[in-house]
Amino acid sequence: MTATRSQALFERAAAVIPGGVNSPVRAFHSVGGTPRFMVRGEGPHLWDADGNRYVDLVSSWGPMILGHAHPDVVHAVREAAVHGLSFGTPTEGEIELAEEIIDRVAPVHQVRLVNSGTEATMSAIRLARGFTGRRKVVKFAGCYHGHVDALLAQAGSGVATLGLPTSPGVTGAQAADTLVLPYNDVEAVKRVFAENPDEIACVITEAAAGNMGAIAPKHNAELKQLCRDNGALLIMDEVMTGFRVSRAGWYGLENVEGDLYTFGKVMSGGLPAAAFGGRTDVMSKLAPAGPVYQAGTLSGNPVAVAAGLATLRAATDDVYRTLDANATRLGALFTAALTEAGVAHRVQFAGNLVSVFFTDAEVTDYAGAQAAETWRFPPFFHALLDRGVYAPPSAFEAWFVNAAMTDDDFQVIADALPHAARAAAEATK
Ligand code: PLP
Repeated sequence: MTATRSQALFERAAAVIPGGVNSPVRAFHSVGGTPRFMVRGEGPHLWDADGNRYVDLVSSWGPMILGHAHPDVVHAVREAAVHGLSFGTPTEGEIELAEEIIDRVAPVHQVRLVNSGTEATMSAIRLARGFTGRRKVVKFAGCYHGHVDALLAQAGSGVATLGLPTSPGVTGAQAADTLVLPYNDVEAVKRVFAENPDEIACVITEAAAGNMGAIAPKHNAELKQLCRDNGALLIMDEVMTGFRVSRAGWYGLENVEGDLYTFGKVMSGGLPAAAFGGRTDVMSKLAPAGPVYQAGTLSGNPVAVAAGLATLRAATDDVYRTLDANATRLGALFTAALTEAGVAHRVQFAGNLVSVFFTDAEVTDYAGAQAAETWRFPPFFHALLDRGVYAPPSAFEAWFVNAAMTDDDFQVIADALPHAARAAAEATK
């Protein structure tokens, strides 16, 4: 497959956009080679600027559960757009989207719409601090909650991909109130509560981890109890899992109640929209109902709201069954190809998020993810890319299936994987 046009665009982009991209992981730093500039998406496929077609296993990092350019979503966006792009006033669509979210996720009683997952977690933390009158925040290594200053410490996703402990530009003061603990280590959480009495405003966790690869949580019920016992709020970050792993996100699979929730991706339908929500007594502390300030010129944008609503309304039980089946099928193909090639591996699921770790051991935290043979990933990735399979360009990411995938798409993957597995087997450090 040629990437001549993508390469030319990347060079042009690098002159005017830092690193040539608007979000670091897109630059292919950890896998090398030329990032593909996409021009079109339809159903399970993407086409790049050189005319190559890919089976897309990134799904825009999660939102596109229905596949690309789903007719219902495109129709809703067109309808909304002709009525006006932004009013800066309340609209009925915002109520409908809030009602849809509340209907799906029982612990959420009120919702505030924002523009990105980062904004959702940033606002949720401010609200937790405002509500409790406390400063400190507990997060887990390898969890990514967007590029909120206080949450970049030992973060997953692009921060993990670039190997950054944290980011220059985050001051000591901003990071000082963030306590970073290993994921799935309940004893560490107990200790930190004991050592910081009446100081911890909230614990924020990915409801199931996806940003260090897919890692199912073992600690959520204990986190809820420890937060309750210590007067802290539990923030379940469902930006990635929300409305993807089930109708009600991770909450729908585990039923552990958080106090606050953050959402994005699927509920945006692929446009810039996100949300946070939770208990009414907490949410009612937000301006203008209460004193904790939070606002946005484009928050609740009518076109984004229309895309999100159309996506959620089209995401029926059948869609969730298909997503689960597709994830299982993908995982089985990984296992078959890597076993055949003799590569030590672990295929892990968190609902229908899937990851391959090049290790024998179960991965339960960030240290485990980092200890895997991640150097096997770049050749694995490129062998897939060369054969028309678009995988996440980092070893520290989940793979996102969509419900539009067909048997033909799985055949493309099944044909490509043995080559990728052999490339992983032959990889050297
Ligand atoms: N929280 C989680 C769990 C995420 O996976 C992400 C993004 O991947 C975010 C927050 C940040 O969302 P956004 O990229 O929309 O700012």
